[in-house]
Amino acid sequence: MAETFNIAVFAGDGIGPEIMAPTVKILRRMSDASDSYSLRFEDAPAGAAHYAKTGESFPESSMNTAKSADAILLSAMGLPDVRYEDGTEISPQIDLRKALTLFAGVRPVTVKTGQRTPLNMPEGKEIDFVLVRESTEGLFYTQGCGEVSENEARETLLITRDISEKLFRFTFEMAQNRKKAGRGPGRVTCVDKANVFRAFAFFRDMFNAEASRHPELESDHAYVDATALWMVQKPWDFDVLVTENMFGDILSDLGAGLMGGLGLAPSADIGLEHAVFQPCHGSAPDIAGQGVANPMAMILSAAMMLDWLGIEKDHAGLVDDGRRLREAVEDVVADGRFLTRDLGGSAGTEEAASAVLDMLFVS
Ligand code: NAD
Repeated sequence: MAETFNIAVFAGDGIGPEIMAPTVKILRRMSDASDSYSLRFEDAPAGAAHYAKTGESFPESSMNTAKSADAILLSAMGLPDVRYEDGTEISPQIDLRKALTLFAGVRPVTVKTGQRTPLNMPEGKEIDFVLVRESTEGLFYTQGCGEVSENEARETLLITRDISEKLFRFTFEMAQNRKKAGRGPGRVTCVDKANVFRAFAFFRDMFNAEASRHPELESDHAYVDATALWMVQKPWDFDVLVTENMFGDILSDLGAGLMGGLGLAPSADIGLEHAVFQPCHGSAPDIAGQGVANPMAMILSAAMMLDWLGIEKDHAGLVDDGRRLREAVEDVVADGRFLTRDLGGSAGTEEAASAVLDMLFVS
């Protein structure tokens, strides 16, 4: 009998609902076609538009839906013109990260043959690496409460043993799973600034301790500045990178740039018990309502969700469908006929998403 998994759906703001609808449609089709699993979707209202309408940005009922779901699918959230009284934006995705201790920000970077990239790719080379960004502490620890006086400002960088050990365990497991799936040599690189800061020497020591538990995997270190250089010069050499929150924030946008833009950049925020899957981009109010948003980052995030659920629940059918969905998007992007405007094409959101469905079920 097919096993049922509950998915909490945050459709979000701006282009959020426009890219979520075709993504859920694809997932429903895959679920209907599977005899080993079934997905059940539950809407969780939240975000800037919800706040403007109701005065509430993240209803308790939506948090409960998220907490009780097997996985959380989230589109872009926030609108620049809708703010709390203190001037900050509505961002339920950050509330979720904190409430559910989602310490591992997973940002895959892939460039397949045929895909447009600002890089001059050597013949036969493809990019396929994952950046894991710690997402609950680091230099974001004092976010919103840094001390500012007339002549100086202070923020605190926090690295804890508790979170770091969880982060490194997660990262090495991910490298192991990738190696098993035939993606990457099974190598984890710790990206830090241990030559200058004691906090990063501490970070590196804990990384080394976890590495010593995985003789079957390779491990090495790189300084963050050199990593930025190598992401441009030889990104095909990376497999799994793990780093602090702020370093990861910056490097992940560089990764999105390598892929040709934010419209192709998926992500996941993962903790021990919960995981949120969402595109890296925002709600793009400048193109909202026009039907031209690129749905691929959202669809790729859904593929990551299937893969994560499959590994968590030891369910091969889900892992297999996660791979099929990712490959269908890669094939559509490489094919080039159904690209949206941001990638130099003229397809609308629906047309691009339909091309993925066709790749899955027709070709
Ligand atoms: P943005 O990512 O929304 O847009 C930046 C540029 O990229 C815009 O020109 C936009 O049109 C384009 N773009 C983004 N996604 C696209 C897609 N799928 N297809 C085609 N083009 C796309 O960033 P922003 O303008 O700085 O932020 C807009 C709002 O989104 C703000 O309220 C911000 O706080 C919020 N935001 C949310 C998240 C999130 O939910 N995780 C992330 C970033 C920004």
